[in-house]
Parts: sequence; structure tokens; C-alpha cells
Amino acid sequence: MPRVYADGNATTPLLPEVVEAMRPYWIEIFGNASSIHIDGQRAHAAVERSRQTLAEFFNCHDAEVVFNSGGTEGDNTAIFGLLRPGDHFITTAIEHSAVLQAAHRMERFGVATTFVGPRPCGLIDPAEILRALRPETRLISVMLANNETGVLQPVEEIGEIARAAGVFFHIDAVQGAGKVRFDVGRYGCHMLSISAHKMHGPKGVGAMFVRRGTPVEPLIVGGTHERRQRAGTVNTPGIVGLGRAAELAMHSLEDGAMERLAKLRDRLQAGILALPGTGVNGAWDGATPVPRAANTTNIWFDDLEGEALVIALDLKGVAVSGGSACHSGATEPSHVLMAMGLDKARARASLRFSLLKTATDADVDHILRVVPEAVEHLRAISPVAAGTAG
Ligand code: PLP
Repeated sequence: MPRVYADGNATTPLLPEVVEAMRPYWIEIFGNASSIHIDGQRAHAAVERSRQTLAEFFNCHDAEVVFNSGGTEGDNTAIFGLLRPGDHFITTAIEHSAVLQAAHRMERFGVATTFVGPRPCGLIDPAEILRALRPETRLISVMLANNETGVLQPVEEIGEIARAAGVFFHIDAVQGAGKVRFDVGRYGCHMLSISAHKMHGPKGVGAMFVRRGTPVEPLIVGGTHERRQRAGTVNTPGIVGLGRAAELAMHSLEDGAMERLAKLRDRLQAGILALPGTGVNGAWDGATPVPRAANTTNIWFDDLEGEALVIALDLKGVAVSGGSACHSGATEPSHVLMAMGLDKARARASLRFSLLKTATDADVDHILRVVPEAVEHLRAISPVAAGTAG
């Protein structure tokens, strides 16, 4: 049975070129990049080459790139590093938990926070951000692409608002990396976070853009690594892998890979929507298409449990994610879909299909073969369809 991995927003496999680039840095060029001897300097040179690549990726200066352990650390660094008791913080109700949980922690330390809700189409309205501003607002943090719906947020307009108000602006760009061309100048942000494993790089490594002069306190203190912005011996193989993944992502963005992927995603979506009792979350604002990452579609299915469909598809060789998350043993509907106004049943019965950039027509054909079978079967036996579930 073929296996199709359609959960690229959860993580992606390393591309062979990334593995090859990293290979020498495990054993041969193993030095500590802070050491002054040749072994250290060879590692240092590789880290600095990756820094240059990331500077190109973000469109910033080399000195504004800080390597870290990934998206969660970047999000935490912006929030813990810029906010102080008495400050006001603006973020959105559809952020990743790396932002939401950090915000809740800061609330306990006396940082008032406004969680701006999305419109039903999944877009954050910049006017709502403007309305939320207070004299004591210090930071705005908004994601570039939502991990569940793929909806691309109007970060340039929000950057304008932040600039006019003299407020710091952080972008969680984890789900945008490799899917849209970045330009931190155009975004008007002070910080931006990415993670290598969402763009065919290794897990546990990421990078932040930190605009020169941004007074962010380091999250991790110790040595003088990363210009004192992030202590800890740098992860040379990981950083080299991130650099190579960023290089390949820039090539893909230029060679039409995203346009090809959007066509595949649209064919997948149209094929599933041919089933009765289905619809897309975050694709339309009335008759206007909502900007989305090319690989993602989030679809609701009436009269079935999303989790049951995730399992049924897995057994048929298709990996996707559901619209629920397990919190302390209980399955909770997605906070993103709930914030968009879906009811609990529909949020629970929503699935995220997020294709890899290496996806093929045959992958989509396989998904379109197995989804209708699985949906029909589950609806036939579903207590939800029979009206017996609460
Ligand atoms: N932000 C978003 C939007 C994400 O989707 C994720 C991961 O799913 C993260 C942050 C966390 O990134 P990491 O897995 O590198 O900690």
C-alpha cells in the first residue's frame, strides 16, 4: 500500500541535500565553533556561512540572525525578552501555543494581554489590532501563516500599525518559511521566528531575525554565543542543515514550486469537496479567496468524528492531522477553528491536509481514492450521524 504523508505542517523530512550538507559536521568537523583552534574555526566558518544564507532568506544583515532551537524558543524569546510587568501585549487568538502559553505566563507577571480574534474566514483584521492599542502597549505578535488553516495574515499592514505606534512587532513565521518569500523590511517587524523542521531541515534548530538595537533580553544566558543573544554551544550540524534547507527553499520559491503545489492542493480540495457535507475552513471571505500557504487546506466533514477519520486514513496509508488536540487526556476542539466561529462538532470534524513540497499527482490521487471510502464508511457507522452523540 502506498503511504502519503500529508502532514507537512507538523513536520517535514530532511531533503537528501540537507543530510549531505550536515554529514561532515558530526564527526570530521566537530569542533566547538567558539574555539580558536582550526577545528573550532572550521565549524565557525560553516555557522557563519549559514548565517549569510539566513540573512538572505530574511532579507536582513548577517548580524541580525540569531540561531536557536526552533519556533517555540523564538516565540518565547520575543515575549519573555521584550515584555515587563505593567506592559500591554497584543497577540491573536489563533497563535500557536508557543505564543499563547508564553502570553498566559506573562499575564501572571502583570502583563495585560489582548487576544484579537480572527474574522470567520481566518484572517486577522488589522483594524482590530489598531483598536487594541493602548499607551502602554509594548509588543504585537502575529503569525505569518496559520498552522491549521494556512491563512496568511496581513503582517505588512500590522507592521505599519506597529511602526506608527512605536510598538515592537514579532512575527511567528514558522509556517511561512519556505512557502512565501520573506522580507523583514517590508514586514516592518523587529523580530521574526522560524524553525528548520518545517522546511525540510533538522528538528531542534531554528533562527530569529532580531532587528539591530531591539532591546530583547536573552531567554538563555551563559556564554557569549550568538552576540550574547542566545547562550549555549551552537548546534553546528543543525545550523548547517538549516542553512542548506533555506537555500533550497529560496530556489523552490523562485522555480514555481509553490504555484505547482497550490494547483495540487486545489485539486485535492476540489476532489474532497465533491463529497456531500463538506466545506473548507479559511478559504473564502464571501466570494473573495483568502490568501493561504500553497500546501494547506482545512476541511470539515459533517456527521463524523475527525479523530476517527484521521485513524481510518492512517490505516489506508494517508497521514493527516485533525482539528482537535489532546489536552490532559481530553480531546479539545481546535482553538483556531473555535475562534473562527465553528461549533465544537464541526471543529472536531475538521481535518488539515498539508502537502509536502515534494508531493506528486499520484499522492493526491491516492488521497482522493481513500478519503471518500473512509468518509462513507464512518458516516454509515457514526453515532454522530445517527444523532446519538452529545
Ligand atoms: N509556531 C507555529 C505556527 C508552529 O506551527 C509551530 C510548530 O508546529 C511552532 C511555532 C513551534 O515550532 P517548533 O516545533 O520548532 O518549536
